[in-house]
Amino acid sequence: MRCRCAVPLSVTLAASAVLCAGASAQTGAPDITWIPERPREGELFVVRVTPATDDPVVLIAGQARTEPLHFERDPSGSFASLAAVPLGERSEFWVSLTLVYADGSERQVNERVPVLAGTYNHRELRVSPALGSPPNAAQRERRARESAMAAEVSTSAHRTPRMWTSAVMLPRDDRVTSSFGDGRVFNGQVSSRHTGLDLDGDTGDTVVAATRGVVAITGQFELAGNNVYINHGAGLVSAYFHLSEQLVSVGDTVEVGTPIGRVGATGRVTGPHLHWVVRYGHTSVDPRSLLAASAEVPSPQ
Ligand SMILES: [Zn+2]
Repeated sequence: MRCRCAVPLSVTLAASAVLCAGASAQTGAPDITWIPERPREGELFVVRVTPATDDPVVLIAGQARTEPLHFERDPSGSFASLAAVPLGERSEFWVSLTLVYADGSERQVNERVPVLAGTYNHRELRVSPALGSPPNAAQRERRARESAMAAEVSTSAHRTPRMWTSAVMLPRDDRVTSSFGDGRVFNGQVSSRHTGLDLDGDTGDTVVAATRGVVAITGQFELAGNNVYINHGAGLVSAYFHLSEQLVSVGDTVEVGTPIGRVGATGRVTGPHLHWVVRYGHTSVDPRSLLAASAEVPSPQ
């Protein structure tokens, strides 16, 4: 066990009311499906909405928990958006949609999404007292400041047009040394969840961008060490922790596979590896779920 990065679990509020409003331009209820059919706790999935035949839907807005959805129309006439099931959401999940028709009328729909509970490991970690002890006031202040910087990237990603494409790759093609969602107990005291995916590597090995986006942070954080955050737009963010070196600057546009840094052991770690983070807005998800979900949403024309 190497990485002990403590990224907080997102806490979100339940979606609520169900409203349906008929209007002149609407001929029938839309067909709403999920990919996969049972989205899994802690993973990305795709919401697909197919309007009734000849229904002049021009726009769909939506929200899943507190995260806005970003629908795009594909050549078949269906609309699709990524969405994320947070860790801790183990049975069901609500998505609220607003379909906007050509005449300006709207139809609101709330859909219950059945969720499969994830299966996670729980591991006991024993570390030196300096690493395992609670943070002091200065550390707490620093962590809060750095968390706020990261949260701002998530907020910005919801305001940024989609840049990511269905071309997505692992930032390192290497062994997984710690999975997303694993529970961690530090010295029998502090419990947390591992909200990234650890990929093996030696110091100096290349780390590449998982998909297209704009570099939002190149920081030196207490827990994450040297890091790169990428805003991929339409709510999607990825981050790369514990680097020995960053190869990009804030504002750089990166493509899938662009080298962005080198593996290191900076921050709160005991050995070199890459801790890879993927967030939909403020919701951390298993980065591996991006590979499957992104393939279900056609790339922008
Ligand atoms: Zn990690």
